[in-house]
Amino acid sequence: MATPARDPAGPAAGFWHDGRVIEQEPVAARRRPRPRVVVLGAGFGGLHATLGLAGATVDVVLVDRDNYHGFWPLLYQVATAGLAPEDIAHPIRAIVARQANVAVRRARATAIDLDERVVQVDEGAAIPYDYLVVAVGSSLSDYGIPGVRSHAFGLKTLPEAVRLRNHILGAFEAADSDPAGAPEGLLTFVLAGGGPTGVEMAGALAELIGTNLAVDFPHLDVSAARVVVLEATSRLLNGFSARSQAEAYATLVARGVEVLLDAPLAEVTEAGVRLVDGRELASRTVVWTAGVRANPLADSFATPRALNGTVEVEADLSLPGHPEVFVIGDMARRAGRGGAPLPQLAQVAIQGGRHAARSIGQRLEGRPTRPFRYHNHGIMATIGRRSAVAELPGGLTLRGTLGWLSWLGVHLVFLVGFRNRVVVLFNWAWNYLTWDRASRVLLEEGDDG
Ligand SMILES: Cc1cc2nc3c(=O)[nH]c(=O)nc-3n(C[C@H](O)[C@H](O)[C@H](O)COP(=O)(O)OP(=O)(O)OC[C@H]3O[C@@H](n4cnc5c(N)ncnc54)[C@H](O)[C@@H]3O)c2cc1C
Repeated sequence: MATPARDPAGPAAGFWHDGRVIEQEPVAARRRPRPRVVVLGAGFGGLHATLGLAGATVDVVLVDRDNYHGFWPLLYQVATAGLAPEDIAHPIRAIVARQANVAVRRARATAIDLDERVVQVDEGAAIPYDYLVVAVGSSLSDYGIPGVRSHAFGLKTLPEAVRLRNHILGAFEAADSDPAGAPEGLLTFVLAGGGPTGVEMAGALAELIGTNLAVDFPHLDVSAARVVVLEATSRLLNGFSARSQAEAYATLVARGVEVLLDAPLAEVTEAGVRLVDGRELASRTVVWTAGVRANPLADSFATPRALNGTVEVEADLSLPGHPEVFVIGDMARRAGRGGAPLPQLAQVAIQGGRHAARSIGQRLEGRPTRPFRYHNHGIMATIGRRSAVAELPGGLTLRGTLGWLSWLGVHLVFLVGFRNRVVVLFNWAWNYLTWDRASRVLLEEGDDG
């Protein structure tokens, strides 16, 4: 088959897909001087798709509901007062300021019209596109468990992390003001889900309570505070090796965390949790770290979806039947080498974003796109101070202090913004030397009286 002719004034005359030219160039593109690529979401995937289009003869519109790019792997550190919110967020406009072909639009995408090639947004005019990269991530899934949405704390966004930090600090203040009148479970903190986020949050919370809060509240019996991890299966850190799972368990228990395995949740209420086996636990703080599903924007597509809402994509990450649309990161479902779906990890999104940018360039030049190949950089989780597991490709596993140092290094490298790196490094060094988790400021709206 002949390669579609190149149009010197704009994009190629057709899209290659599975060895066929299946569609003519978007009509709208012919009216615009340069094709427009709309990127939805400036998270790991969307940001790297945008950066990958630097120098391409396209105009990029980068759309996000927030004005910052957030580094979610450190969100739990904000919730446990180790870092300030600004330390793990960077203004989107500052990141792309030097990329001349990018315009940033702060808006929430509400629907995608694939036929009209237009994105509907909550603020301002709808945004037409010639190419679209959908990278709006995931949102909480409650697995149908009653009370999760109304009574549990989520840990997916910066406002949620700040709200949780306020709530935890507020619980200690309330207990200190009136120890006798404190409701049952006020100082019991439940992490629902023993994956990396639950384990990391539990380790950090135990450290915050045992060090800083024990000093901050000398008249309170802080040792009565409990951190409990509830895990529905028989293992923590699903996806890690059995040895790492055992190490995570032993380290958490040694640090005073209660870990309940085979403990699926039946209900969350204002007063605590009830397990499927009937056990009840009083708690005023239940943190849901267990489940995510694709962002509801995926409902815009009539193409096949997995149970968790993720969108089945072609080998090049395009939407079936729509070679001009790419779905990447947590939104997408694509099998990896062994046949299992690629995990919802930052590296999958980053590499997917770069791949989508390359594919758009290939389409513009009338060349066939290539299948996405994920290069596994490994997985890691920290269990608290000087303890982490890092499972790297090739069977190399780092544990304890070495694992922890590699965890610190990787997170610093991928954190966006030089200032953020310096501030986070300083905070960690400060915390390491003094045990001081410095962001213990209760930020609540109040009056000035
Ligand atoms: C607490 C936590 C800890 C994690 N820890 C790790 C870890 O240690 N290692 C790891 O590899 N992965 C980790 N992950 C997973 C990792 O963060 C995700 O896999 C990754 O962020 C997915 O990238 P993405 O681009 O698909 O989505 P995101 O990075 O989540 O970006 C989505 C973007 O879309 C924006 N957005 C959402 N909805 C809309 C809308 N309707 N309109 C416009 N903009 C919208 C959001 O504001 C956001 O900027 C963690 C996730 C969480 C929540």
